[in-house]
Formats: sequence, C-alpha cells, structure tokens
Amino acid sequence: MESSASVKKLSEEFQKLPGIGRKTAERLVYALLKDKDQRAAQLARALMDLVEKVTLCSICGGITEADPCEICTSDKRDKTVVCVVEQPLDIALLERTGGHSGLYHVLGGTLSPLDGIGPEILRIEQLLKRVKTATIKEVIVATNPTVDGEATALYLSKVLRPLGVKATRIARGVPVGSDLEYVDEITLVKSIEGRREI
Ligand SMILES: [Zn+2]
Repeated sequence: MESSASVKKLSEEFQKLPGIGRKTAERLVYALLKDKDQRAAQLARALMDLVEKVTLCSICGGITEADPCEICTSDKRDKTVVCVVEQPLDIALLERTGGHSGLYHVLGGTLSPLDGIGPEILRIEQLLKRVKTATIKEVIVATNPTVDGEATALYLSKVLRPLGVKATRIARGVPVGSDLEYVDEITLVKSIEGRREI
C-alpha cells in the first residue's frame, strides 16, 4: 500500500513496540513526515542517543548513562533496603511515586519453569552477593502479583532467609495478575507501605 519502502519499514518497526497496531504506526510515521527535518530528525537523534549512551547499571541492573547509576551512588538513599523488581521500567514507576527511598535490584524477569527460566537466568546470584557484601537489612520483593511473580517472591524469601536479611512482599493493593505498569501511583505507594514479611 505504501509508496515508500522507508515508510513501510518504520511502520513495521513501530508495530513491534508494545501497544502499537498498524493504524497507530502509520499515523505516527505520517506525523513524523509532516515535519520531517525537525521532528523526524530529532527522533532519529534521540534514538541514536538511546543506543549509544544508555546502558545497564552493573550493580542494580537499572538503566543509566553512568555506571553505577545515580541511585546506587546517591548518599541520600537508604542503603539498608533494596527493592527487587522484574524490569528496569519498574524502577521508573516506583521512583515516580516517591514511596521507596532505598536501592533497587532488577531481576530481569520472573522464575518460569515452563518457559525454562530458572534462577540462573535471573540476576538472583547478584542479589545474594549484594546482600552478603553490603549493609542490606531488608529486601522488598516487588515482582508483579502474577503466579510467576509470587513464585519468585517465595523463592527469594527462601534463599534470603539464611543470610539473616528480612524479606518482605508488597501488599495486595496491586490487583492480582496485573503488572506494576498498570497500577496507579497511590496504590503503588500503599502496597509498599503495607508490605509484609515473607
Ligand atoms: Zn544502579
């Protein structure tokens, strides 16, 4: 349908992103074309910056441009509490709520035996190492309240307990089966405040 291979290519790339169907992808491409030299060029530069500058923090696994990241190196953060999340995006969500003043640790997913995801694939070993070598007193498990998220929380509580660290789970304010991504900020803050030991 498109008369341009470049238009078709970009539209296909947009459609690989979450929540973008064909119609939206085409609308985005044509919106960029309306002001190609400004808008499209700026987007291209922003994407290149993303590719070239953004990396993962070697300590927490969050996204950063300087390694270790701002949160890991900040002296304003409570270094005795670490919040374990599934993905880097969850850090951004929790930071926006202001409900967590400690550090973070990104697992990179959840345990999922059916998909062949065992503890060795996730950043669990790194977490245990942090707990052993740093002054961490509490690990808040903020994985999503899905079956796999709960199983992961249970697993973490088992491997953390022998290390003498308190493992807590965010409260059920987060609807079962949903991603943190779709939870409003107040609910998220309440779920951290209402965490319980596991
Ligand atoms: Zn970090």
